[in-house]
Amino acid sequence: MKPLPETLEARIGLRVNQLDTPALVVDLDAMERNIARMADFARKHRVLWRPHAKMHKSAEIALQLQRAGAVGACVQKTAEAEALAAGGVRDITITNQVIAHPKLLRVARLAARLQAQGGRLALAVDSAEGIQRLAEAMAQAAPQARIDVLVEIDVGQGRCGVPPGEPALALAQAVARLTQLRFAGLHAYHGRAQHLHGAAERRDAIAAAVQAARHTRDLLTAAGLPVPLVTGSGTGTLVHEAASGVYGELQAGSFLFMDADYARNEREPAQPAFEQALFVKTQVISACDSHAVCDAGHKSHAIDSGLPTVALLPPGRALRYANGGDEHGLLYADSPQARLPALGQMLWLVPGHCDPTVNLHDFLIGVRGGLATGVVERIIRVDARGALT
Ligand code: PLP
Ligand code: MN
Repeated sequence: MKPLPETLEARIGLRVNQLDTPALVVDLDAMERNIARMADFARKHRVLWRPHAKMHKSAEIALQLQRAGAVGACVQKTAEAEALAAGGVRDITITNQVIAHPKLLRVARLAARLQAQGGRLALAVDSAEGIQRLAEAMAQAAPQARIDVLVEIDVGQGRCGVPPGEPALALAQAVARLTQLRFAGLHAYHGRAQHLHGAAERRDAIAAAVQAARHTRDLLTAAGLPVPLVTGSGTGTLVHEAASGVYGELQAGSFLFMDADYARNEREPAQPAFEQALFVKTQVISACDSHAVCDAGHKSHAIDSGLPTVALLPPGRALRYANGGDEHGLLYADSPQARLPALGQMLWLVPGHCDPTVNLHDFLIGVRGGLATGVVERIIRVDARGALT
């Protein structure tokens, strides 16, 4: 790993109340409890877990997850895969379509590099043309290497993926005919189901996804193409994919940090009790009788899934965060018992959506011993920040 610049190094050992704001802080104790819960859950259900690194974007965290039992990392982008590989991650699945020739050449070179290190790269496909383009790039840039290929089926999200059944069989057969491509299974992720509020709605959405994946797997098997793996699932529905007997690998990512949007989901009793571990520390920079203003606006946290909530306030003293623009947040005390914070006071925000929030920051500040009196233990680089290609 590259050394940290001195200015960052200097923050290690600081008490949390000395941290300048706005700052993206990880409660390391909460994060490690989430990792232990996930490891335990996967072990009990005998499924693999390959956490999605689109969320944390950090090689250091991906390796920490592997030490806890994860089989590797998922990414969404070629550049994310390259960033993780540069940090020492060797088993990577790109859960997405890659079509541009220059990107496919990068994919091919990365597949060769990881294979030479005893690792592997996998890529999703959902078209005959995509398969052909991948095969051409492999022949051109990595003629000695192989790549794992997952046929992506649309199990209800309405995004990428061919319909379950025959169209998936045709693609799997096309993959199997190409010597540099190894058919590695089905990618079957239902993203929309993750954030359905009701537990019953999520259960029903995944029941349909499981049926589609099972039907497709059985069709391929009957046609002489065994399906080594069905992979998918996220933090909102992992209970159902894990119990399905069809999915062999969970891709959940948000469980590590969680966010205000996930906190609003109605919880299934079987769901591990993942805790909030990601916070924006912010300071009140202006105050008057009607409201207070803090220094965290939507350049500090993503607002696509709703505004942040204010954490760690005494019971009955909730504050409402309202959008104050790029660099400001407005705080209102709506209930009679609530008190507006004073000028200079520090507050802790729970971001609405963890993935794009992390992508706004160069590093995560890892605090040990709680947010009230803890100490900075680690500075974690967001290696794939802005890795969009
Ligand atoms: N798998 C894929 C393909 C995804 O796009 C995502 C997130 O969007 C995930 C897994 C992880 O889901 P979550 O972060 O909700 O756990
Ligand atoms: Mn997300």
